[in-house]
Amino acid sequence: MTIDFDNSYARLPEKFFTRQAAAPVPEPQLVRLNVPLAAELGLDAGWLASPAGVAMLAGNAFPDNAAPLSMAYAGHQFGNWVPQLGDGRALLIGEVVDVNGRRRDIQLKGSGPTPWSRRGDGRAALGPVLREYIVSEAMSALGVPTTRALAAVTTGDYVIREDRLPGGVLTRVAASHIRVGTFQYFYARQDHEAVRALADHVIDRHDPDARKADNPVAAMLEGAIARQARLIARWLSLGFIHGVMNTDNMTLSGETIDYGPCAFLDEYDPQKVFSSIDQFGRYAYGNQPSIGHWNLANLAQSLVPLLDENADRSVEIARELLEGYGTAFADAYAAEMTAKIGLAEPRDGDMRLVQDLLNLMAEDGADFTNTFRVLSALGREAGDTDDGFVGQFVQRDAARGWLPAWRTRLSQEARDDAARIAAMKATNPAIIPRNHRVEAAIAAGYAGDLSVFSALTETLADPFADRMADDPLTLPPAPEEVVQQTFCG
Ligand code: AMP
Ligand code: MG
Ligand code: MG
Repeated sequence: MTIDFDNSYARLPEKFFTRQAAAPVPEPQLVRLNVPLAAELGLDAGWLASPAGVAMLAGNAFPDNAAPLSMAYAGHQFGNWVPQLGDGRALLIGEVVDVNGRRRDIQLKGSGPTPWSRRGDGRAALGPVLREYIVSEAMSALGVPTTRALAAVTTGDYVIREDRLPGGVLTRVAASHIRVGTFQYFYARQDHEAVRALADHVIDRHDPDARKADNPVAAMLEGAIARQARLIARWLSLGFIHGVMNTDNMTLSGETIDYGPCAFLDEYDPQKVFSSIDQFGRYAYGNQPSIGHWNLANLAQSLVPLLDENADRSVEIARELLEGYGTAFADAYAAEMTAKIGLAEPRDGDMRLVQDLLNLMAEDGADFTNTFRVLSALGREAGDTDDGFVGQFVQRDAARGWLPAWRTRLSQEARDDAARIAAMKATNPAIIPRNHRVEAAIAAGYAGDLSVFSALTETLADPFADRMADDPLTLPPAPEEVVQQTFCG
């Protein structure tokens, strides 16, 4: 079997990447193959699961028409400028055009050292590989633009972290791996020709309509800003905290990338931080919209040389487009949050109603996912089921007191209860990859039992279906199960 690679990134100038040979591992074994995703990519799942396929997924041997390379990029890490990062443990094998005509990158993560590895070993432990597989696939099922997981393998080798841990390789699929930091890399070197070549490449891949605009690069920047605004609004609507929103972890495609210390909220707390390395809470849940703006300002700055021949005018264009981010985010966030409370016909004051509920939830540490899911099932008339919603709160009278204003607002909508409840259940998931469940799957995986990982992955593929009230995946962690901190791979 040959894969029909078409490697457009490898046709960019050589300074965009370094070509890379395989770095074999002793005993690759397939942990999981994403068969539906393979089909979407036009790949033969049978071949991928065969020894030759697994050899590719482990980085041991590549088909002849692959063009394995590690990409150059820079970035701001926690606000600090780092002029050279690059794929230190990742390898772009090649690109395919999927059955829907979309170009997709196929990349290995954990496949061995590259010239960008600095002091790293270029490897990944099995735990972070399983974590990225579970969470990225769950995010996709939750309707979030994201990189996907095509496969996970074990290497038969160990990596040294805080312990000696079995190694793994994740095969990641992305609309592209171009980051804000890719633009910054060339801008910082004052290589404006390279910035232009990269912008052209991004327009072809992500903003083909921008070609028709008077100012294609400005239109591309506007597109990237709109995609990030929508993405971050969607994250917030699901209680997702990325955890490392460095500029090298923000894509031009608008897909979520780099699942390191990411986490989902259990109890609602807008300032929540899980990541052990986020000492000052820079990437707290509620800071994500403003960090998005900060990162996009860096993208805009990198594009300034291309926006206009007149330098002042260029800066002005960049500033105007960045100003649009605030509105784009506010609109996207309002759309997400009003949908969560079942409103389909927006009115002034709707966000006040949302905010009143969020304030109550924050005061009481109400479970983010369950509160909205239980609310979904309530009828337009007060009834016994109200207790399920009220029971999510400590201040039960205050929670009960929020409902009449909500019901008054619902009564102004044309949609009947059945349609509204169905819509709310299609936007408020019953299950998410709760941190303690992900950690349990990883712990079992390290102990040699991968069935917990597989079962969790499969269940999370259907997050909006009704679940039994005692379904363990719907339950917040017991006190002893609470995950206090998450860690980078
Ligand atoms: P991340 O925190 O995953 O966004 O990674 C930041 C940078 O560190 C990127 O350039 C990665 O490729 C690199 N990196 C992370 N882990 C390793 C590793 N184990 N070996 C080599 N490079 C790494
Ligand atoms: Mg990264
Ligand atoms: Mg990472």
